[in-house]
Amino acid sequence: MKEAYLYEKKDDGKVRCFLCSHRCLIKDGARGICNVRENRGGTLVSLVYGKIIARHVDPIEKKPLFHFLPGSRSYSVATVGCNFRCLFCQNADISQMPTDRKQIRGEEIPPEAIVQDALNTRSATIAYTYTEPTVFFEFALDAARLAARKGLRNVFVSNGYMTEECLREIHPDLHGANVDLKAFTDRYYKELCGAKLEPVLKTLETMVKLGIWVEVTTLLVPGRNDSREELTELAKFLAGLDPGIPWHISRFHPTYKLTDIGATPPESIRWARDIGYEVGLKYVYTGNLPGDVGEKTFCHDCREVLIDRYGFSVHKYAVKDGRCPKCGAEIPGVWK
Ligand code: SF4
Repeated sequence: MKEAYLYEKKDDGKVRCFLCSHRCLIKDGARGICNVRENRGGTLVSLVYGKIIARHVDPIEKKPLFHFLPGSRSYSVATVGCNFRCLFCQNADISQMPTDRKQIRGEEIPPEAIVQDALNTRSATIAYTYTEPTVFFEFALDAARLAARKGLRNVFVSNGYMTEECLREIHPDLHGANVDLKAFTDRYYKELCGAKLEPVLKTLETMVKLGIWVEVTTLLVPGRNDSREELTELAKFLAGLDPGIPWHISRFHPTYKLTDIGATPPESIRWARDIGYEVGLKYVYTGNLPGDVGEKTFCHDCREVLIDRYGFSVHKYAVKDGRCPKCGAEIPGVWK
């Protein structure tokens, strides 16, 4: 059992966790909203430290990160648990295990072994993914620090609900992130995810300020977050932060508790991509549409195809020293 980082003890035996923006006040014997952090006699402990439920070597494109070492391997790890309750979660069997099944499972693996395995598999990065890395922060931080010392880079695939304190703690060793911006209304976040919009926006701002490479994903759910007004506002927010932020618009498939809505029509994804370009974003991608033209990276200046992909495979990679080989434009991203 690992004592949690980032919490404070109260006089009455309660503890306040400030890892994520729920900032749970937890009484003795109880757990936070994520159900993987417990107050034991006035000490907050992580119940998932080193309990690895999933680990795979994935293409970095699967995160998705399209402007971060394209074509490289990303050693991907997760524990169970999440601080959101998304009705459409694709990994609910592990993310909601502590809540739905009251179980915390996983193979005991220390950070050192994860880092060594990443090196052995010639991975360029360790990705903290599949569930929400914020709720296994102690493990992610210890692994990330060690990995960085060994020349690996670290990426989070996150809902962006961590506090600024949490982000600042890991930031020197967090090199990239794909953050879900699931919608642009508080109502959607509340009804479908059990959270709020504002903290996610704040995280994106802070990440950009800290120089962490950021890409953003929005799952387009028919009738829930796909109005022109909402998508325009969302895309404008991203463009205001940095027009070079890649925006991935992903196709929804009915799953978990959201099965009464059909899959997103492919033309809606392409229409949303056009909105991203209209408001000034330079790189907008379609997701879960293998073979779509929206998987390719085009130079924002001369429209040359820089990276050709099919699904998660890279078939052509023409970025040279971070620039377009045709017109010389600087392409935002992490290329070496
Ligand atoms: S990580 Fe978030 S949800 Fe979990 S105990 Fe801490 S504040 Fe609560």
